Amino acid sequence: MIDLRSDTVTKPSQLMRKAMAEAEVGDDVYGDDPTVNRLQAVAAERLGHEAALFLPSGTQSNLVALLTHCQRGDEYIVGHDAHTYKYEGGGAAALGGIQPQPVAFQDNGELSLDEVASVIKADDVHFARTRLLCLENTQHGRVQSLSYMASAKTFATKHNLALHLDGARMGNAAAALGLSLEAVAAPFDSVSLCLSKGLGAPVGSVLVGSKPFIQEATRWRKVTGGGMRQAGVLAAAALIAIDEGFNRLPEDHARAATLAAQLNAIDGLSVRDGWTQTNMVWLEFKKSHGEALAAHCKQHGVLISASTYGARLVTHLDLTDEHIEECVSVIRSFFNAAL
Ligand SMILES: *Cc1c(COP(=O)(O)O)cnc(C)c1O
Repeated sequence: MIDLRSDTVTKPSQLMRKAMAEAEVGDDVYGDDPTVNRLQAVAAERLGHEAALFLPSGTQSNLVALLTHCQRGDEYIVGHDAHTYKYEGGGAAALGGIQPQPVAFQDNGELSLDEVASVIKADDVHFARTRLLCLENTQHGRVQSLSYMASAKTFATKHNLALHLDGARMGNAAAALGLSLEAVAAPFDSVSLCLSKGLGAPVGSVLVGSKPFIQEATRWRKVTGGGMRQAGVLAAAALIAIDEGFNRLPEDHARAATLAAQLNAIDGLSVRDGWTQTNMVWLEFKKSHGEALAAHCKQHGVLISASTYGARLVTHLDLTDEHIEECVSVIRSFFNAAL
Protein backbone atom coordinates (compact mmCIF):
# COMPACT_ATOMS: atom_id res chain seq x y z
CA MET A 1 0.00 0.00 0.00
CA ILE A 2 1.17 3.53 -0.83
CA ASP A 3 -0.04 5.47 2.17
CA LEU A 4 -0.60 9.22 1.75
CA ARG A 5 -3.14 9.64 4.56
CA SER A 6 -0.63 11.31 6.85
CA ASP A 7 3.05 11.71 7.66
CA THR A 8 2.35 9.77 10.88
CA VAL A 9 2.26 6.42 9.06
CA THR A 10 6.03 6.05 8.63
CA LYS A 11 7.93 3.11 10.09
CA PRO A 12 11.09 3.63 12.16
CA SER A 13 14.29 3.15 10.15
CA GLN A 14 16.84 0.38 10.81
CA LEU A 15 19.08 3.04 12.32
CA MET A 16 16.33 4.03 14.74
CA ARG A 17 15.54 0.43 15.65
CA LYS A 18 19.20 -0.22 16.36
CA ALA A 19 19.48 2.93 18.50
CA MET A 20 16.31 1.89 20.35
CA ALA A 21 17.67 -1.60 21.04
CA GLU A 22 20.93 -0.20 22.36
CA ALA A 23 19.52 2.80 24.28
CA GLU A 24 20.75 3.42 27.79
CA VAL A 25 17.67 3.73 29.98
CA GLY A 26 16.48 4.50 33.50
CA ASP A 27 13.24 5.49 35.22
CA ASP A 28 12.33 8.82 33.65
CA VAL A 29 9.74 9.67 36.33
CA TYR A 30 12.77 9.86 38.67
CA GLY A 31 14.65 11.82 35.99
CA ASP A 32 17.02 8.85 35.64
CA ASP A 33 16.79 8.07 31.94
CA PRO A 34 20.01 9.32 30.31
CA THR A 35 18.63 9.05 26.77
CA VAL A 36 15.48 11.03 27.60
CA ASN A 37 17.66 13.60 29.35
CA ARG A 38 19.87 13.85 26.29
CA LEU A 39 16.85 14.24 23.99
CA GLN A 40 15.44 16.98 26.21
CA ALA A 41 18.80 18.80 26.25
CA VAL A 42 19.11 18.53 22.46
CA ALA A 43 15.50 19.67 21.90
CA ALA A 44 15.95 22.68 24.19
CA GLU A 45 19.13 23.60 22.34
CA ARG A 46 17.72 23.10 18.82
CA LEU A 47 14.57 25.08 19.62
CA GLY A 48 16.49 27.75 21.53
CA HIS A 49 14.55 27.52 24.78
CA GLU A 50 15.79 26.91 28.32
CA ALA A 51 14.25 23.49 28.86
CA ALA A 52 12.32 20.70 27.14
CA LEU A 53 10.01 17.86 28.12
CA PHE A 54 9.44 14.59 26.23
CA LEU A 55 5.77 13.54 25.99
CA PRO A 56 3.95 10.61 24.40
CA SER A 57 1.95 12.67 21.87
CA GLY A 58 1.36 16.12 20.44
CA THR A 59 -2.12 16.17 21.91
CA GLN A 60 -0.74 15.65 25.39
CA SER A 61 2.02 18.16 24.79
CA ASN A 62 -0.50 20.88 23.83
CA LEU A 63 -2.79 19.90 26.72
CA VAL A 64 0.06 20.07 29.22
CA ALA A 65 1.07 23.48 27.80
CA LEU A 66 -2.48 24.80 28.21
CA LEU A 67 -2.77 23.38 31.74
CA THR A 68 0.55 25.02 32.61
CA HIS A 69 -0.32 28.45 31.17
CA CYS A 70 -3.96 28.60 32.31
CA GLN A 71 -6.00 28.02 35.45
CA ARG A 72 -9.61 26.85 35.72
CA GLY A 73 -11.85 29.69 34.45
CA ASP A 74 -9.12 31.06 32.18
CA GLU A 75 -9.46 31.34 28.45
CA TYR A 76 -7.19 30.80 25.45
CA ILE A 77 -7.67 32.32 22.00
CA VAL A 78 -7.24 29.88 19.14
CA GLY A 79 -8.05 29.38 15.43
CA HIS A 80 -11.51 27.96 14.70
CA ASP A 81 -9.99 24.98 12.92
CA ALA A 82 -6.88 24.64 15.08
CA HIS A 83 -5.79 21.21 16.25
CA THR A 84 -5.86 22.18 19.94
CA TYR A 85 -9.41 23.46 19.61
CA LYS A 86 -11.02 21.04 17.18
CA TYR A 87 -9.01 17.83 17.08
CA GLU A 88 -8.01 17.18 20.68
CA GLY A 89 -11.36 16.16 22.14
CA GLY A 90 -11.83 19.48 23.92
CA GLY A 91 -9.17 18.33 26.40
CA ALA A 92 -8.37 21.78 27.80
CA ALA A 93 -12.05 22.37 28.62
CA ALA A 94 -12.80 18.79 29.69
CA LEU A 95 -9.75 18.33 31.90
CA GLY A 96 -8.60 21.85 32.75
CA GLY A 97 -11.73 24.01 32.89
CA ILE A 98 -10.04 26.20 30.27
CA GLN A 99 -12.44 27.91 27.89
CA PRO A 100 -11.45 28.21 24.24
CA GLN A 101 -12.26 31.44 22.39
CA PRO A 102 -12.09 30.54 18.71
CA VAL A 103 -11.31 33.11 16.01
CA ALA A 104 -11.59 32.32 12.30
CA PHE A 105 -8.36 31.52 10.49
CA GLN A 106 -7.78 33.80 7.51
CA ASP A 107 -7.04 32.32 4.07
CA ASN A 108 -3.32 32.08 4.82
CA GLY A 109 -3.72 30.40 8.23
CA GLU A 110 -3.11 33.60 10.21
CA LEU A 111 -5.40 34.94 12.91
CA SER A 112 -6.20 38.62 12.40
CA LEU A 113 -4.64 40.31 15.42
CA ASP A 114 -7.38 42.99 15.29
CA GLU A 115 -9.95 40.25 15.65
CA VAL A 116 -7.96 38.64 18.45
CA ALA A 117 -7.86 42.04 20.21
CA SER A 118 -11.64 42.32 19.90
CA VAL A 119 -12.26 39.06 21.82
CA ILE A 120 -9.84 39.72 24.71
CA LYS A 121 -12.03 40.06 27.80
CA ALA A 122 -11.87 42.97 30.22
CA ASP A 123 -11.12 42.28 33.89
CA ASP A 124 -14.73 41.81 34.98
CA VAL A 125 -16.45 39.10 37.08
CA HIS A 126 -18.68 38.26 34.10
CA PHE A 127 -15.82 37.10 31.94
CA ALA A 128 -13.31 34.31 31.76
CA ARG A 129 -9.74 35.57 32.11
CA THR A 130 -8.01 35.73 28.73
CA ARG A 131 -4.54 34.29 29.34
CA LEU A 132 -3.08 32.81 26.22
CA LEU A 133 -2.90 33.09 22.47
CA CYS A 134 -2.26 29.82 20.63
CA LEU A 135 -0.97 29.76 17.03
CA GLU A 136 -0.22 26.87 14.69
CA ASN A 137 2.72 26.43 12.27
CA THR A 138 2.32 24.85 9.80
CA GLN A 139 -1.45 25.35 9.63
CA HIS A 140 -2.90 22.70 7.31
CA GLY A 141 0.49 22.62 5.63
CA ARG A 142 0.70 26.39 5.22
CA VAL A 143 3.75 28.21 6.54
CA GLN A 144 3.34 31.10 8.96
CA SER A 145 5.88 33.82 8.26
CA LEU A 146 8.48 35.02 10.69
CA SER A 147 7.15 38.58 10.44
CA TYR A 148 3.64 37.46 11.41
CA MET A 149 5.02 35.48 14.35
CA ALA A 150 7.01 38.51 15.46
CA SER A 151 3.94 40.76 15.30
CA ALA A 152 1.96 38.17 17.30
CA LYS A 153 4.71 38.30 19.95
CA THR A 154 4.57 42.10 20.15
CA PHE A 155 0.77 41.88 20.33
CA ALA A 156 0.77 39.22 23.07
CA THR A 157 3.27 41.17 25.16
CA LYS A 158 1.20 44.35 24.83
CA HIS A 159 -1.97 42.53 25.91
CA ASN A 160 -0.28 40.56 28.66
CA LEU A 161 -1.01 37.20 27.05
CA ALA A 162 1.25 34.16 26.99
CA LEU A 163 2.01 32.85 23.48
CA HIS A 164 2.01 29.13 22.65
CA LEU A 165 2.88 27.55 19.31
CA ASP A 166 1.32 24.27 18.29
CA GLY A 167 4.33 23.50 16.16
CA ALA A 168 3.43 19.87 15.48
CA ARG A 169 4.93 20.40 11.99
CA MET A 170 7.12 23.42 12.71
CA GLY A 171 10.05 21.48 11.25
CA ASN A 172 8.26 21.67 7.90
CA ALA A 173 7.74 25.41 8.39
CA ALA A 174 11.42 25.95 9.23
CA ALA A 175 12.54 23.83 6.27
CA ALA A 176 10.26 25.75 3.88
CA LEU A 177 11.52 29.07 5.20
CA GLY A 178 15.13 27.88 5.07
CA LEU A 179 15.49 28.67 8.77
CA SER A 180 16.52 26.81 11.91
CA LEU A 181 13.96 25.37 14.34
CA GLU A 182 15.24 27.98 16.77
CA ALA A 183 14.28 30.90 14.54
CA VAL A 184 10.71 29.66 14.18
CA ALA A 185 10.37 28.85 17.90
CA ALA A 186 11.94 32.11 19.14
CA PRO A 187 8.89 34.38 19.57
CA PHE A 188 6.97 31.90 21.75
CA ASP A 189 6.76 31.25 25.48
CA SER A 190 6.19 27.58 24.73
CA VAL A 191 6.36 25.39 21.63
CA SER A 192 5.16 21.84 21.02
CA LEU A 193 6.87 19.83 18.27
CA CYS A 194 5.83 16.35 17.07
CA LEU A 195 8.71 13.96 16.45
CA SER A 196 6.40 11.27 15.07
CA LYS A 197 5.24 13.07 11.91
CA GLY A 198 7.55 14.15 9.09
CA LEU A 199 10.57 13.74 11.35
CA GLY A 200 9.96 10.00 11.46
CA ALA A 201 10.11 8.88 15.11
CA PRO A 202 7.62 6.15 16.05
CA VAL A 203 6.37 7.99 19.16
CA GLY A 204 6.71 11.30 20.91
CA SER A 205 6.58 15.07 21.06
CA VAL A 206 8.64 17.67 22.85
CA LEU A 207 7.43 20.77 24.64
CA VAL A 208 9.91 23.61 25.22
CA GLY A 209 9.84 26.75 27.36
CA SER A 210 11.52 28.38 30.33
CA LYS A 211 12.88 26.25 33.18
CA PRO A 212 10.02 27.13 35.58
CA PHE A 213 7.46 26.49 32.82
CA ILE A 214 8.89 23.04 32.06
CA GLN A 215 9.09 22.24 35.78
CA GLU A 216 5.35 22.93 36.11
CA ALA A 217 4.64 21.12 32.81
CA THR A 218 6.43 18.04 34.17
CA ARG A 219 3.92 18.02 37.02
CA TRP A 220 0.98 18.21 34.56
CA ARG A 221 2.50 15.47 32.40
CA LYS A 222 2.44 13.19 35.45
CA VAL A 223 -1.12 14.27 36.37
CA THR A 224 -2.36 13.49 32.85
CA GLY A 225 -0.73 10.06 32.91
CA GLY A 226 2.21 10.85 30.66
CA GLY A 227 5.03 10.02 33.08
CA MET A 228 6.88 7.19 31.32
CA ARG A 229 9.52 4.92 32.80
CA GLN A 230 12.33 3.50 30.59
CA ALA A 231 11.32 5.91 27.84
CA GLY A 232 14.89 6.10 26.54
CA VAL A 233 13.96 3.39 24.01
CA LEU A 234 11.64 5.99 22.45
CA ALA A 235 13.94 8.97 23.00
CA ALA A 236 16.72 7.14 21.13
CA ALA A 237 14.60 7.16 17.96
CA ALA A 238 13.48 10.72 18.63
CA LEU A 239 17.11 11.90 18.77
CA ILE A 240 17.64 10.58 15.24
CA ALA A 241 14.37 12.17 14.10
CA ILE A 242 15.23 15.60 15.37
CA ASP A 243 18.44 15.83 13.33
CA GLU A 244 18.27 13.52 10.33
CA GLY A 245 14.50 13.86 10.03
CA PHE A 246 14.66 17.62 9.90
CA ASN A 247 17.39 17.71 7.26
CA ARG A 248 15.38 15.39 5.03
CA LEU A 249 12.10 17.39 4.99
CA PRO A 250 12.84 19.34 1.77
CA GLU A 251 12.51 16.01 -0.11
CA ASP A 252 8.93 15.67 1.12
CA HIS A 253 8.18 19.23 0.07
CA ALA A 254 9.58 18.65 -3.42
CA ARG A 255 7.46 15.49 -3.82
CA ALA A 256 4.34 17.33 -2.63
CA ALA A 257 4.99 20.09 -5.19
CA THR A 258 5.33 17.50 -7.96
CA LEU A 259 2.18 15.74 -6.79
CA ALA A 260 0.23 19.01 -6.70
CA ALA A 261 1.35 20.05 -10.19
CA GLN A 262 0.52 16.69 -11.75
CA LEU A 263 -2.85 16.32 -10.03
CA ASN A 264 -3.84 19.85 -10.98
CA ALA A 265 -3.62 18.85 -14.64
CA ILE A 266 -6.41 16.27 -14.20
CA ASP A 267 -9.92 17.28 -15.30
CA GLY A 268 -12.55 17.06 -12.58
CA LEU A 269 -10.37 18.02 -9.65
CA SER A 270 -8.46 21.07 -8.53
CA VAL A 271 -5.61 21.48 -6.11
CA ARG A 272 -6.21 24.17 -3.48
CA ASP A 273 -4.28 27.07 -4.87
CA GLY A 274 -1.29 28.17 -2.81
CA TRP A 275 -1.76 25.60 -0.04
CA THR A 276 1.05 23.23 -1.04
CA GLN A 277 3.81 25.05 0.81
CA THR A 278 5.22 22.02 2.65
CA ASN A 279 4.23 18.33 2.55
CA MET A 280 0.45 18.53 2.05
CA VAL A 281 -1.73 18.62 -1.05
CA TRP A 282 -5.43 19.47 -0.72
CA LEU A 283 -7.84 18.42 -3.47
CA GLU A 284 -11.27 19.76 -4.27
CA PHE A 285 -13.89 18.05 -6.40
CA LYS A 286 -17.62 17.33 -6.48
CA LYS A 287 -18.77 16.42 -2.96
CA SER A 288 -20.20 13.13 -4.16
CA HIS A 289 -16.75 11.94 -5.33
CA GLY A 290 -15.08 11.84 -1.91
CA GLU A 291 -15.86 8.35 -0.69
CA ALA A 292 -15.76 6.78 -4.14
CA LEU A 293 -12.31 8.26 -4.79
CA ALA A 294 -10.93 6.91 -1.51
CA ALA A 295 -12.38 3.47 -2.27
CA HIS A 296 -11.00 3.48 -5.84
CA CYS A 297 -7.55 4.46 -4.56
CA LYS A 298 -7.60 1.77 -1.90
CA GLN A 299 -8.59 -0.86 -4.42
CA HIS A 300 -5.54 0.17 -6.47
CA GLY A 301 -3.11 0.15 -3.55
CA VAL A 302 -3.17 3.84 -2.59
CA LEU A 303 -4.49 5.15 0.74
CA ILE A 304 -5.68 8.76 0.97
CA SER A 305 -7.88 10.80 3.34
CA ALA A 306 -10.97 11.85 1.38
CA SER A 307 -14.57 12.69 2.13
CA THR A 308 -17.13 15.30 1.09
CA TYR A 309 -14.73 18.14 2.00
CA GLY A 310 -12.25 16.96 -0.63
CA ALA A 311 -9.00 15.11 0.00
CA ARG A 312 -5.70 15.55 1.78
CA LEU A 313 -2.50 13.87 0.59
CA VAL A 314 0.63 14.02 2.72
CA THR A 315 4.17 13.16 1.64
CA HIS A 316 6.65 11.56 4.01
CA LEU A 317 9.88 9.60 4.31
CA ASP A 318 8.48 6.21 3.26
CA LEU A 319 7.45 7.54 -0.19
CA THR A 320 9.52 7.47 -3.38
CA ASP A 321 9.15 9.30 -6.71
CA GLU A 322 7.64 6.09 -8.13
CA HIS A 323 4.98 6.11 -5.41
CA ILE A 324 4.03 9.67 -6.36
CA GLU A 325 3.73 8.68 -10.04
CA GLU A 326 1.58 5.70 -9.13
CA CYS A 327 -0.68 7.84 -6.93
CA VAL A 328 -1.20 10.36 -9.75
CA SER A 329 -1.99 7.58 -12.19
CA VAL A 330 -4.55 5.96 -9.85
CA ILE A 331 -6.30 9.28 -9.16
CA ARG A 332 -6.25 10.13 -12.89
CA SER A 333 -7.92 6.82 -13.73
CA PHE A 334 -10.73 7.62 -11.27
CA PHE A 335 -11.49 11.01 -12.83
CA ASN A 336 -11.15 9.69 -16.40
CA ALA A 337 -13.81 7.11 -15.58
CA ALA A 338 -15.98 9.61 -13.66
CA LEU A 339 -16.12 12.20 -16.47
C1 LIG B 1 -0.85 15.86 14.79
C2 LIG B 1 -1.05 17.20 15.38
C3 LIG B 1 -1.13 17.38 16.75
C4 LIG B 1 -1.22 16.23 17.75
O1 LIG B 1 -0.28 15.27 17.67
P1 LIG B 1 -0.57 13.73 18.09
O2 LIG B 1 0.79 13.25 18.32
O3 LIG B 1 -1.29 13.12 16.94
O4 LIG B 1 -1.39 13.75 19.33
C5 LIG B 1 -1.25 18.66 17.23
N1 LIG B 1 -1.31 19.71 16.40
C6 LIG B 1 -1.24 19.59 15.07
C7 LIG B 1 -1.30 20.81 14.21
C8 LIG B 1 -1.13 18.33 14.51
O5 LIG B 1 -1.07 18.20 13.18
